[in-house]
Amino acid sequence: MVAVIWLKWLLFWAIVVDGKNIPPQGQPEKNQDQEYWYEQARIALRKRLQYTMESERRPYAKNVVLFVGDGLGVATVTAARILRGQRLGKKGEDHDLAWDSFPAVALAKTFNMDAQIGESSACATALMCGVKTNFETVGLDAKGRFENCFSSFSSRVPSLIDWAQESGKSTGIVTNTRITHATPAALYGHSPSRYWEDDSKVPPAARKSCKDLARQLIENDPGRNINVLLGGGRRHWLPKVAHDPELTKEEGRRLDGRNLIDDWVRDKKKRSLKAQYVWNKGQLDQIDPNQVDYLLGLFSYSHMDFEADRDPGATGDPSLADMTRSALSILLKNPKGFFLVVEGGRIDHAHHYNNAYRALDETLAMETALLAALALVNPTETLIIVTSDHSHVVTMGGQATPRGHPILGPDSKVSDVDGQPYTTILYGNGPGFATPRIVPMNTTSAAEDRNQVHGSAVPRQWATHGGEDVPVYALGPLATTLFAGTFDQSYIPHAIAYSACLGEHRLRCQGLDNYTGAPLMPLSGNCPSQEITSVAHSGQPIVIASSVMSDDGQLRVKSSSGGDGLKPLWLASIWVTIFTFRT
Ligand SMILES: [Zn+2]
Repeated sequence: MVAVIWLKWLLFWAIVVDGKNIPPQGQPEKNQDQEYWYEQARIALRKRLQYTMESERRPYAKNVVLFVGDGLGVATVTAARILRGQRLGKKGEDHDLAWDSFPAVALAKTFNMDAQIGESSACATALMCGVKTNFETVGLDAKGRFENCFSSFSSRVPSLIDWAQESGKSTGIVTNTRITHATPAALYGHSPSRYWEDDSKVPPAARKSCKDLARQLIENDPGRNINVLLGGGRRHWLPKVAHDPELTKEEGRRLDGRNLIDDWVRDKKKRSLKAQYVWNKGQLDQIDPNQVDYLLGLFSYSHMDFEADRDPGATGDPSLADMTRSALSILLKNPKGFFLVVEGGRIDHAHHYNNAYRALDETLAMETALLAALALVNPTETLIIVTSDHSHVVTMGGQATPRGHPILGPDSKVSDVDGQPYTTILYGNGPGFATPRIVPMNTTSAAEDRNQVHGSAVPRQWATHGGEDVPVYALGPLATTLFAGTFDQSYIPHAIAYSACLGEHRLRCQGLDNYTGAPLMPLSGNCPSQEITSVAHSGQPIVIASSVMSDDGQLRVKSSSGGDGLKPLWLASIWVTIFTFRT
């Protein structure tokens, strides 16, 4: 009897202790909120700065351009590099994409607080706000719960755009997705759901308390002060009764009757700001940057067309490179510098369909945009980062595939099991699964079929994201110091902030590095902004190369009573012991 009571007592404490220390399956650990991730970033920064000389820490970036290839993993980069080379008439493998020549490269971990495989809005919150957060929430820390309006009030986190505006810099967003979509939304929005792009998507009970993302963009700081907004997604700006100017049968989606495009124009007029709204390429081309300080361009009803399908005429859409050039023509006017994000947002969409052609083509469209930016900015005073929010389940492989083999085509040999051909590029899951499997034409013409769906191992209506680390390429002040090794994605904006003297590092440019130990001596005049990189700068535009467990549930004591409850805890302690020992 005594033994039974003792066992029950032990079981009670096992449950209490377990409940305190091990989070429920899929739930974030306690206290991993904004301050936790800020501190993790400080630790990561100190690690990278501790062996640098004081003089090496002095360079600072006046400008920052952050390129985000949505879904751009290493396999996509390699395949796109080969495609670019092959399009130039070369074999391809030895080609260099623009970011291949950057002097710094690192890897970023993309998990979300409650998800092993990252998702765009939570990854973008890490990448833009420096805080890891929950799946499908945006601009909040882990206290924000999906679709819980109330939880978003106390969990909002600022972004790089907030920090840049505080420092007097101009700011801009360029994307070929809807401007209210997951990745750009992290720059200005705070929402318990990435899907609340307009009020029709916000549950009626939450509408009074939680603004949709489009309204946040035009009414709140920092959105209303962003100089350049170029992308798609008019449907979230227009009321239900208004017809789209291009897709004239389509109506806006707003239920509040507001036309936010008109409201954006009115707000700028009220504040006597030089502003213009455009919605096709011809109008964008006519912009006089000297007469425009605020530019809104919404070029499509939903996402902009894939580059492969784009109408490049005056009544069509600008390319990502066109938009990047227009944005820079306005942002470069600010003597205090600027912060610009350029998103190649549709790489992800093509990969979701196992359509490698468009995924690679979109990657190359982003490279073209990077080359456009490199031609306009001075890399000795501009930090340029190229990275991704998360990867995809795409891979490339083959047995003795010869150099120069068409990257989008079938391998040179057939399968040694079924004797059928297969493509070099394959997917782990997605719509490319079929039984019998999809067999590509055993000719190189398959490589030219832009609608080709590549084979996948597991059937899904659309492919999932990939969970491996994503690359981070960096060029510019402090690039080689700060962007090296493996770090959490949430470190990236803090490193950018350190380089550009933003946020908690804003006084660094005045010589007050309150961060790495003893304050540096104040520097006279402007901070020096040179870093020795592999890229020389002669005052001329530069062109580089040619032409992106919380499975603790296993260890959790079941709430049901019984001796079983103890076993996992004991196993856990043994496991922890082994783990501690091994590390
Ligand atoms: Zn995606």
